[in-house]
Amino acid sequence: MFALLNSTQRQAASLRVALIGKNTNSVTIAEDVVLSPKIGSVIEEVRAIGREIEIVWDDGVVLRTKLQIRGSWQIFRMAEWQKKNRGIAKVVIQVEGCIAACFGIAEIETHHDFDPRRHPLLGRHGPDLSDSRTDLELCVDLMLSYQDADATIAEVLLDQRVMRGIGNVFRCELLWTCELHPWAKVSSLNRDECRELVSIAAELLQSQHATQDRTLAVYGRHGKNCQRCNGQVRVTHHGEANRVLYWCADCQTRHAGTSSSRYVTEHDTPPGVHPAEFIYLSELERARKSG
Ligand SMILES: [Zn+2]
Repeated sequence: MFALLNSTQRQAASLRVALIGKNTNSVTIAEDVVLSPKIGSVIEEVRAIGREIEIVWDDGVVLRTKLQIRGSWQIFRMAEWQKKNRGIAKVVIQVEGCIAACFGIAEIETHHDFDPRRHPLLGRHGPDLSDSRTDLELCVDLMLSYQDADATIAEVLLDQRVMRGIGNVFRCELLWTCELHPWAKVSSLNRDECRELVSIAAELLQSQHATQDRTLAVYGRHGKNCQRCNGQVRVTHHGEANRVLYWCADCQTRHAGTSSSRYVTEHDTPPGVHPAEFIYLSELERARKSG
């Protein structure tokens, strides 16, 4: 069955197993890039598109590598890596227990994984919620006047023009904390509810340094029991950028009735299946259909 996948898809499948959900210990990129993945941020997705592999971090930074014919991503254990000639790797990502290195790349690029319409360079940045001096009322105003009334609250939390400082891990945790349905339309929240959400986000972000070791309620806990209601934590993909989203369908029910139909749970990962495995099986299924 593995043979049904092309070489890029197979490499992406191995990278998913090695990297997804891990904290980044170091990243070395041999060429100048506009954005560098942050040390400590969580690797969230690995995508295969033609001969390109994209690695996506929790804060939305995407590393795109276009592979040459003999180019490849390879995974090494630390001991194996010591023996390897490291000089020729163009990208080296170190996470706990292993190293992913890329050889023979035609193009390397980094960018922010947001809908181009929402690219931070195209509009003014919203308030930074991790800054204690930030204007929370401005953020509330930006939410209430959001131009796309059908947009979901989960999408708006990552829109840099409305607020900054929220990475994807934090987004999932915040929605859970506020018991908000991730698909709730942003236009269904009134001023008090927007203010509550923004205030809780700012408070949590600003105290994050003191609570870095806190355990996560939903992120990465697919198939496990919700700490609040004992329901099952689910994972899906959501929004224009198709970011991974963990949530509890049993207790995150506020504004559930207003759910935007744009991104229904068509990609919902079945319970008991690891997200990386689900993507792998989906790619196999597509390869089988097209072959
Ligand atoms: Zn729950």
